[in-house]
Amino acid sequence: MASQLNTTLAAEEDKLLACIHCGLCLEACPTYIATGDENDSPRGRIYLMRAVAEGRLASTANSFRLHIDRCLGCRACEPVCPAGVEYGQLLEGARAELHINATRLSFTQRALRFALRHIWLSAARLNFVFSCARLARDSGLVRLLLKSKLAPLLSRQFEFGLALLESSRPQQALSVPPASAGGSTGPPATLRTDEITHPLTQVVLTSRREPVLLFKGCVTEGLFSRVNQATARVLAVNGCTTSIPAKQTCCGALHAHAGDLDGARQLAQQNIEAFTDTGDAPIITNAGGCGAMLVSYAHLFANNEQMAPQARRFSNRVRDVSQQLAVTGIKMGEGIGSDKITYDASCHLINGQHAGDAPLRLLEAIPDLKFVPLAGSDRCCGGAGVYNLMEPELSGQVLAEKLEHVRGTEAGTLATGNPGCHMQIRAGAMLAGDSLRVCHPVELLDESYRRAGFYIES
Ligand code: SF4
Ligand code: SF4
Repeated sequence: MASQLNTTLAAEEDKLLACIHCGLCLEACPTYIATGDENDSPRGRIYLMRAVAEGRLASTANSFRLHIDRCLGCRACEPVCPAGVEYGQLLEGARAELHINATRLSFTQRALRFALRHIWLSAARLNFVFSCARLARDSGLVRLLLKSKLAPLLSRQFEFGLALLESSRPQQALSVPPASAGGSTGPPATLRTDEITHPLTQVVLTSRREPVLLFKGCVTEGLFSRVNQATARVLAVNGCTTSIPAKQTCCGALHAHAGDLDGARQLAQQNIEAFTDTGDAPIITNAGGCGAMLVSYAHLFANNEQMAPQARRFSNRVRDVSQQLAVTGIKMGEGIGSDKITYDASCHLINGQHAGDAPLRLLEAIPDLKFVPLAGSDRCCGGAGVYNLMEPELSGQVLAEKLEHVRGTEAGTLATGNPGCHMQIRAGAMLAGDSLRVCHPVELLDESYRRAGFYIES
């Protein structure tokens, strides 16, 4: 490649050259399917990236920004690529080019940059923002704004943002009170949860114990702490003792997707230190987006001699909760007597963490579950971090297709392993008037374990 190798993208030269332009990725790409424009396909975007890396196209060119911004980052193009192009890493480089060389930014792009720099990098400010968000959600203010129909008058994005927040609220049918104790297989004990701030139900422990460390995730802990609690309980039933390192922080995925690689590295370094100080046990996530980011720390620090070995060791320890349970085995629970249930795979869980069907094994441990497969389950829902707020039109098209498939299942409940997918699908369903319940697969198994008497109320 030519002399202009001072760009972030040019450093990924070998990955760019790996593309043989066969086009097999086109039909896997949701944005190509939606627009029919080659520049909105993986192959087209790789052409644009090469043009920038070789100095034939300025990274400030509108065409580069438009088509790179429109990429969902879902990485559905990776598993279908015969040349093994690591598209996700190329996209990260392209977004970094845009971040560094940005000239004209929209209001939402400026707001995102401000939030990532001045809120997400400060634990205190991030906690404060999530506390305010929960207050607005739990006080009913968000629901009131949505019902008042004022929100869409301000903007569709504002309305959708409110719907995303409202969609994180626990839904009725999963908020059933814990079952009373029973079915003991050993002495009850409290989970070891270092620095955990919420009480956990005691679990009837099995004799085999494997220590694991839980990565909480900023959005999961901020808006879905119930999923972290359910994860620790389900792991305990299946022989794992969960600890939660106190100094962990956001995984940095939002920064990496926005091209702020310095911000992503700052957060990654903090996490590597937090989880290295607390031993070498598996690091468990329950959010596909976070997990895919955590396993990419090795790439994030590939050119940093000092950090690279630690980052590689860290990434090798990361597992989704479903992958951990595939190793430990999954105890059968009790039937939960629910309506039809379907499952939508998080793109990053399958394309980043390569969890495959492991999350479905959690559902199979629930007797008599009325499971209905979802067509296009492995296709992106259009959430993609904050893509739904930055690219509302294209995100809406991708979401509309997802909701059509969900309706086709006639399921009343959809399980998915990522908070971003949860909020996107539930918000879309809510605004469309569909009464769809959305939850994490681990929440369903947790409910099943309650009914089986694995838990003792603390
Ligand atoms: S499938 Fe892979 S090699 Fe073929 S065009 Fe797409 S990215 Fe390039
Ligand atoms: S990451 Fe997703 S949206 Fe982007 S090019 Fe690949 S398949 Fe298309």
